[in-house]
Amino acid sequence: MLLAGEVVVGVGNIYASEALFLAGIRPTTRALRISRQRVERLREAIRTVLARAVEKGGSTLKDFSNAHGESGYFQLEAAVYARQGEDCRVCGTAIRLIRQGQRATFYCPTCQKP
Ligand SMILES: [Zn+2]
Repeated sequence: MLLAGEVVVGVGNIYASEALFLAGIRPTTRALRISRQRVERLREAIRTVLARAVEKGGSTLKDFSNAHGESGYFQLEAAVYARQGEDCRVCGTAIRLIRQGQRATFYCPTCQKP
């Protein structure tokens, strides 16, 4: 739902993965099952992630548009994005990669609850 772009416009792949991590919500969780409280936490997380990306400068945002999304300063500090198999910075569990539709999504199975 986050990536559909109808509900929350402008939340790209990287931001969606990062915001869900920050909010502790697993990307496979159905939107309808997320409590109001967690939705609020997610809303805050999206704001935080976007603000952080903007702080890094406009060139960062441009870098995000490459085909693999693999460049960009912000990404070097990503909590989960493109870090599959690496240790979660919070708990040390290996970050997982799943595909939802055409999109790659990254998450920590320990920090992010269904
Ligand atoms: Zn973790």
